Amino acid sequence: MADYRDRARCRNEDPELFYPLGEGRAFAKQVAEAKEVCEACPVRAECLEDALARREPDGIWGGLTADERRALLRRQRGQLPCAS
Ligand code: SF4
Repeated sequence: MADYRDRARCRNEDPELFYPLGEGRAFAKQVAEAKEVCEACPVRAECLEDALARREPDGIWGGLTADERRALLRRQRGQLPCAS
């Protein structure tokens, strides 16, 4: 069965790019580089949906960091107002 990961743009990237050791300013360049790869990924939506469904605790998936995914899940549950 075909898996979205077969079409993932990150298949040819160093996996460590997507797992910064933090989310602060010191890791901003790495996070931006990873997000740039995700931005042009043809399976970004599937990847993000998968990470949200699994409550993936680490790394950048679907163009979002772990903190951003947690915030998205809270918004989806109506615990935070949407960012405008
Ligand atoms: S969205 Fe990003 S992490 Fe997900 S498959 Fe695509 S390139 Fe990889």
